[in-house]
Amino acid sequence: FQIKMEDLELMDELGKGNYGTVRKVRHTRTKVDMAMKEIRLELDESKLNGIIMELDILHRAISPQIVEFYGAFFIESCVYYCMEFMDAGSLDKLCWGRATVPEDVLARITRSMVLGLSFLKDELQIIHRDVKPTNVLVNRKGEVKLCDFGVSGQLEKSLAKTNIGCQSYMAPERIKGESQNMLGTYTVASDVWSLGLSIVEMTQGTYPYPPETYSNVFAQLQAIVHGDPPELPAEIYSDTAKDFVARCLEKVPGRRPTYAQLLQDRFLLQDEERGQGGVDMVGWVNLAIEERSKKRERERSEAEAQGQGKG
Ligand code: ATP
Ligand code: MG
Repeated sequence: FQIKMEDLELMDELGKGNYGTVRKVRHTRTKVDMAMKEIRLELDESKLNGIIMELDILHRAISPQIVEFYGAFFIESCVYYCMEFMDAGSLDKLCWGRATVPEDVLARITRSMVLGLSFLKDELQIIHRDVKPTNVLVNRKGEVKLCDFGVSGQLEKSLAKTNIGCQSYMAPERIKGESQNMLGTYTVASDVWSLGLSIVEMTQGTYPYPPETYSNVFAQLQAIVHGDPPELPAEIYSDTAKDFVARCLEKVPGRRPTYAQLLQDRFLLQDEERGQGGVDMVGWVNLAIEERSKKRERERSEAEAQGQGKG
């Protein structure tokens, strides 16, 4: 059935991205909690209708590693997109510092991502195009799922005009070729790069090409294209994990493995052997949420102290 705004009770704000706001909502009739993303677009009604129709394919994206889609609608120039609410939030906020993700948890998250990406590719012929920690969501059951993949050409086109942000997960070949053909040159290999970069970020707790070390965005993008790719922190993770990441972060796209090859990598085979209950994902998620609230509390009191200092 169709979801309508009248059926939704607005709850907390879950986060803000470059293009809009995500809020928790409750579908009043079914009592299902959802996450609703609002995307403001300056488009006419027929284009907005086109987007809603293109999003319909998401009803077929049913997999344990993909955030469930409930429906979309538009009001005036905003598209509203309702999806499964993931109660532990996105990975970026769960990986709170250096080496806070144990290797078995890292492997479980990575394999979930690869399974999700390969499902999209094989079953729906979809390339994700926006793999990054904020688009990997986790719940308290310890499940890891992908969201925000590119299904609507019209939506992508409308968003592409806006900025690319100062945290680029774009593969070197995309940075180089972007001026010619932004969407056309996109291949699965570029998502494999973004996967590798996301893994490194999880283990460091920070984006691997920190903006503050470069004088400008151009210098930062130069480093991605011409510098050595980042690696997992030494002495904390095994060579198996490091090799996996190095394979994803090959500078030449043709040398990067396919998803099928990644699933056969020792790092992911070891995870498969550990089995469903063999990794304490729930324990890690609980710990990560606790650390996240402590960090938020610290930041809040620091901000307060600063405010008092000024006043
Ligand atoms: P960008 O705009 O560059 O894609 P982003 O992914 O952070 O960045 P949004 O997709 O708008 O931006 O999401 C904003 C935040 O909302 C995310 O960082 C995430 O923490 C939270 N969020 C998004 N979807 C859900 C969901 N289904 N359940 C819980 N939290 C969510
Ligand atoms: Mg997102």
